[in-house]
Amino acid sequence: MAIILVTNDDGILSSGIKMLAEELEAVGEVWVVAPEREVSSVSHAITLNQPLRAEKIAPQRYAVCGTPTDCVLLGVLKLLPAKPALVVSGINRGVNLADDITYSGTVAGAMEGALLGISSFAISFEDSDGDFKKPALFAKVLSSKLIKSPLPPGRFLNVNVPSSEIKGVRITRQGRRSGGESVLERVDPRGKLYYWIGPQHYPEGEPEDTDIGALKRGYISITPLRLDLTDYQLLPQLKEDWEKEFASFLEG
Ligand code: MN
Repeated sequence: MAIILVTNDDGILSSGIKMLAEELEAVGEVWVVAPEREVSSVSHAITLNQPLRAEKIAPQRYAVCGTPTDCVLLGVLKLLPAKPALVVSGINRGVNLADDITYSGTVAGAMEGALLGISSFAISFEDSDGDFKKPALFAKVLSSKLIKSPLPPGRFLNVNVPSSEIKGVRITRQGRRSGGESVLERVDPRGKLYYWIGPQHYPEGEPEDTDIGALKRGYISITPLRLDLTDYQLLPQLKEDWEKEFASFLEG
């Protein structure tokens, strides 16, 4: 049976990861290596300046005092009996859409899987406190598919499941969260100012082929992502203009 590594950024005790692991038992041998507590928004961070401990809390279940990326590295390189066929990260409480995927620890878990040459996807559910059964069932179907036909190297998937009734599945591109950033300013009980990064707002009327647009219309969104962040459209133009221009920097 294929080995599946499951991680998340909401912590090993979250309902999303429990439901995910439960459903995936039907398609593979599930190993859970996940943060011991919530570490949402840690992006692709790794822990380099303190020891990592992995506490075995049950058979094939490890709680790690680190990030999702730490968990995938530890799982694949140390804890699992063999290289997994699949890394699944989630199910996150709340969506991971558009520009916000750059902050996401959930997406980073799948990214690390791809870096290690393993088919990987991140999965997030719009209804933070809802029943994770629906996204877990979709994760099972997708996992079974990816075990049979793995993704090409350097690619991974970002999946978002709507809270509304599901109309279907859309393969999408990453949308834009144009604006909507806010920083809240408050006074603490000791009279000192503090700040809190505010909730993000997604624009209305995003095209249906974007992750935001598909989700708002009631579709499960699957966005294929790549590890190579190179902008191949801009590259030739910059090469043409800038290489010559900066050559004079050396002469001067
Ligand atoms: Mn999270």
